[in-house]
This record gives sequence, structure tokens and C-alpha cells, in this order.
Amino acid sequence: MVTATRPEQQVKIGPTKLLINNEWVESVSGKRFETINPATGEVICDVAEADAPDVDKAVEAARAAFNSREWRNMSATRRGELLYKLADLIEQNIDELARLETLDNGKPLHSSYGDLKLVIACYRYYAGWADKVQGKTIPINGPYFCYTRHEPVGVVGQIIPWNFPLLMQAWKLSPALATGNTVVMKTAEQTPLSALRVGELIIEAGFPPGVVNILSGYGPTAGAAIARHMDIDKLAFTGSTEVGHLVMEAAAKSNLKRVTLELGGKSPNIVFADADMDMAIEGAHHSLFFNQGQCCNAGSRLFVEEKCYDDFVAKSVEKARQRTVGDPFDPNTKQGPQIDQEQFDKIMSYIESGMREGAQMLCGGHRWGDRGFFIEPTVFANVKNEMKIAQEEIFGPVMSIIKFKDIDEVIHLANTTMYGLAAGVWTKDITKAHAIANNVRAGTVWVNCYHVFDAAAPFGGFKQSGMGRELGEYCLEHYTEVKTVTIKL
Ligand code: ADP
Repeated sequence: MVTATRPEQQVKIGPTKLLINNEWVESVSGKRFETINPATGEVICDVAEADAPDVDKAVEAARAAFNSREWRNMSATRRGELLYKLADLIEQNIDELARLETLDNGKPLHSSYGDLKLVIACYRYYAGWADKVQGKTIPINGPYFCYTRHEPVGVVGQIIPWNFPLLMQAWKLSPALATGNTVVMKTAEQTPLSALRVGELIIEAGFPPGVVNILSGYGPTAGAAIARHMDIDKLAFTGSTEVGHLVMEAAAKSNLKRVTLELGGKSPNIVFADADMDMAIEGAHHSLFFNQGQCCNAGSRLFVEEKCYDDFVAKSVEKARQRTVGDPFDPNTKQGPQIDQEQFDKIMSYIESGMREGAQMLCGGHRWGDRGFFIEPTVFANVKNEMKIAQEEIFGPVMSIIKFKDIDEVIHLANTTMYGLAAGVWTKDITKAHAIANNVRAGTVWVNCYHVFDAAAPFGGFKQSGMGRELGEYCLEHYTEVKTVTIKL
């Protein structure tokens, strides 16, 4: 049972209006929508609901800020200082932000702290880049001096998901601001609160009006208005592959805004019989169940070599059974609720589909508790790669274990998917590790580890898992345009 009245659950809510031009405003329509505590199903509060007219206002503010002397002429070093300041403010308010994240998203409080450490590191990482983005001098033929400038793209629309609200905000905002863009960000309708509180800190840090605008609202309304907007120069989207198709089409049909997409995944996690078994079992468990299974890069197709299959399955089931589900504010909780009723229903329908298609459910499979959106940690064995539960993104605590014979077979199976976001491999054999790393078509490969993220290491997808890279130096190129200047000598 989730207890709702414990003292540590007293959470300060923060702003609930839209942030446009450094002001907190109601939406043009005056509409508001409710945000729900996924651990109880109860309403936390309501927030202003943006739609197309609010997107227009935010874009106008972002355009004016982009053209303003204050932002255009601000030194790159100063932009870096603002980002450092924001990171410091987030660090000073870490307890409040972690609680707010857990309340609105349902992730265990210790996970919110884990996310926030990465958030702070991300703002600092890109703060450091602000004055290190450089062009080239190019020795062209003739009496000319030729050089390139890396200029900001302009007004950037950013649409983020609900699974890591603060972290996705940081991944998106920090490279955009370090390179001198201005931003209109739409958060996910399930989790508007923490990003708005960061909005207050953005103002406090000293970012000029209009540089960052934050809108709460729904995808088909506010999100679609961003994707098709004629005065947004670039769109950075993280979410489902299905919506990725829609926003890219909208960008193509409107003004050919630049698009980067970080989409879904069905990542293979491959365990060879020569692996350190305890480490592999622990790693496979973490790769799938972390964040309630709500990770685009979850190790959601677990391939286990025939020779160790039975033992591995038995121990993985044992581990899943022991996973503590419950109140996300309880320090012993490993797994909180799913984000909402819709995701809950979707996951339950995948569990039914697994059983229908003949996979063997060895534990879980039911709702946990009597309120909120909790699902028992679930393990399916004897899964075949062509089953729906092995091909479609479940985004929940459902492990699917597939048996394989040898390395050639597993490389083939691993690549038999429309996705290509991440992969894992567990082995003591360095040659096998490299064979998997080189031959699996995925943007990230983890060897004897999983979910290792660092602001410096790029992340993104092959195939229908997206285009472009988040994080690292690679991300900067998506936020800059290259200008060639040629001067007659
Ligand atoms: P999920 O299924 O995990 O919620 P979505 O792709 O639906 O993933 O949502 C990710 C983000 O995309 C959210 O901010 C959501 O509001 C937004 N979104 C959903 N539909 C659209 C759309 N048609 N156009 C633009 N953004 C959308």
C-alpha cells in the first residue's frame, strides 16, 4: 500500500503557469489541465494548458530574444557563466526538485536524485563548451581568406517526454543555450511540474527574457503547433517513433526546420555463457527494470546463450520476485508506479499478448496494490524474436528472455528489429565483445555494463530509433549552422 501522508511527501509545487518572456502567464484560452500523482491516481494540481496561440506567443518572444542585442552580443563566456549559475541553483534546490520529480513522475526518490546529478553535470558540461565552439580557416585557391563561423540555428522548438523530465530538459536546453539559440520547450503533459520550477531558476540565473520559454500542454495541440511552426528553425524531439514520424512530416510540410529525433528502442542485451554470471544477471535486471522499465534504451530483448539459459532464467525470475515495489518516497522502494492509466493499460495488453503468443510467464503479470498504476515485475521466458513482446516497445517492467545458440545467430537476431538505439553484451571474451560492438546496429553499445550515461558521451539511434545525437561534442553540430565567409585579399 502506498501511504500518502508521510512527512517526506510534503512537496512544494512551484509555478503552474506558462513561462513566456520570463513572465508567468495563463494560457490564451484560459484552459488548465490536471497532473496526476501516479502512485495514487490522485490529482496533484492543475497547470496552464498551452495550445497553438501560446506557441505563437512563445515563438515571438524567442525570436525577439534571438534578435536582441543582449543575447546576440552576449559573450560566449557569459553564456557559459549563466549555465554554470543555473547548475548551481539546481544543486542548491536539489531536495525540492527531487521530491517534485518523484511526486509527478512516480520514480523512486533515490532515482530522482540520481537523475539530478546527471542534470547538474549536463548543464556544467555544456557551460564549458559555450566558449569552445570554433570554426576553421580554410586554404582555398586564389587571393582569398576563407573561414567558417558556427552560428546558432535560431529559435529552437524542443518537445520532451515524461520518463526523465528534468534530465530531458537538461539534455535539450544546455547545448541549445551554450551555442546561443533561444528555446520554446514543451514538456510532456504527464509531468509538467519540475521543468516549470527549473524555469524559475532560469530567471534567477539571469537568462534574458524570451531566451527560454516553457509550455505545458498536449502533443496533438501544442506539440504539433511547434512541429509545424513557420518561425521555428529547428526541432529537437524525444518520444515515440510513431510521433517522430508525425513531427518530421510536419517539419517537412512547413518550413523544413532542422529535425533531430531521439525515439523508441527494443535494445538487445546479449549474455554469453562465459560472462561473469552474477554481474550479468544483475546487469540484465537493471537494464530492463530501471525506471519502471520506462527507458527508450531499456535492455528489452534479453538474449541468453543456450548453455547458461536455464540457470540464468531461474535466477532472473528470483531477482524480479525480490524487487521491492511501492511508495516511491520510501527509501527501500526499487520500483514505483507506471506513469499513467494509458501506459498501464498498454503494458497489461502486451503481457496478455505475450501469453497469447506462447511465451512462458514465470512471474508477475498483474497489477500491484489497489491504487495508482503499479505493475508487478514480470518475466517471460521462451520468447521468440518475432513475437510482439520482442518487437514492440512495451515501456514497462516486462522482461523478455530469448535463447540463442551462437554469435552469428545472435547478431542476426539482435539486428532483426526496426530499432537501433542501444545494445548490451556480457562476456569475458574481448573478441566476442568487439564482434558484438561492431556488428550490432545501434547508437550505443555497453560491454559488461548498461545504462552508463555521461554528458560527454553521445547518445542516439540508428534506424527508426532516430537521427542526430544528444550529448557530447556531437550534439553541438545540431545546434549550429556553418557559415562560410570569404574575403578578397
Ligand atoms: P509517449 O508515448 O512515451 O508518451 P509520445 O511520443 O506520445 O511518447 O510523447 C512524447 C512527447 O511528444 C510529449 O511531450 C508529447 O506531448 C509529444 N507529442 C505527442 N504527440 C505529438 C504530436 N502529434 N506532435 C507533437 N508532439 C507530440
